[in-house]
Amino acid sequence: SSNKDDSSVHGRVRVAVRLRPRNAEELAADADFGDCVELQPELKRLKLRRNNWDSDTYEFDEVLTEFASQKRVYEVVAKPVVESVLDGYNGTVMAYGQTGTGKTYTLGRLGEEDTAARGIMVRAMEDILAGVSLETDSISVSYLQLYMETIQDLLDPANDNISIVEEPKTGDVSLPGATVVEIRNQQCFLELLRLGEAHRFAANTRLNTESSRSHAILMQLERPSLAIDKSGSEGHTLEEAKSINLSLSALGKCINALAENSAHVPVRDSKLTRLLRDSFGGTARTSLVITIGPSPRHRGETASTIMFGQRAM
Ligand code: ADP
Repeated sequence: SSNKDDSSVHGRVRVAVRLRPRNAEELAADADFGDCVELQPELKRLKLRRNNWDSDTYEFDEVLTEFASQKRVYEVVAKPVVESVLDGYNGTVMAYGQTGTGKTYTLGRLGEEDTAARGIMVRAMEDILAGVSLETDSISVSYLQLYMETIQDLLDPANDNISIVEEPKTGDVSLPGATVVEIRNQQCFLELLRLGEAHRFAANTRLNTESSRSHAILMQLERPSLAIDKSGSEGHTLEEAKSINLSLSALGKCINALAENSAHVPVRDSKLTRLLRDSFGGTARTSLVITIGPSPRHRGETASTIMFGQRAM
């Protein structure tokens, strides 16, 4: 709905779509069927099959095929955001898609066994560490999960109901109860991600969180040395599952309001959007990668993910 060519302008959400390769089960079960989507990466187009004859065509800022490397995905989805954060602006990278389509793979993969497999969070931290001087800047990280409007601290699992505090004058949002860890090097960041991942797994097992239920992970970086001159410097990375809770529908509304250039972005409607408030400001840079699978069995979910991505543009 908005000016697609103006991708350099802050404030607009850049949307990339990434297709996961067929998995073993899909290779076996759907062998006789074609994929439900056809990608035209040079044209930045995606065709979603309606039936054997017809398809609908959608345009995105980037179209990443099943052959796109993690490095390429980082470069097109996150690197511009990281660079903007290093210049002192707010930045956000989000993934949205049906469970099993590659959000964790895209954002959270640690790649310890294979550095080429490293995901966005690890690559982003590498570039951030290379781009700042730890003598004047400090990088601090919180790692949280949002589940059914409850915020849990993934670095301190006993802390499972963190509240959001809003500064009345400035509207700045903080999480006074959340663990904040200062990052001095990549090794310490990897350890923190590993710890958070283990706690997330344990918490979801304990709460019997179905993997298809909505959840979100958020990571926050702060650089006090820049917070004075510009709008503050924060980066959030967020991972999500499926649009079945308040936060996601609220996020959808905020993204729509942004795309329509509306003066009122309804950030107050959910915890997720309150946390992401700084991402919806005028100078913030936000990148969304929507993840989809190829199987015709999930055509419905794929279509709704594509529509979410389209509305964000
Ligand atoms: P989600 O976080 O959306 O639920 P995952 O990231 O856990 O999905 O991905 C589901 C499975 O698909 C995992 O086994 C993951 O390794 C695999 N996968 C996802 N995306 C890719 C990709 N681009 N290339 C290869 N394997 C992938």
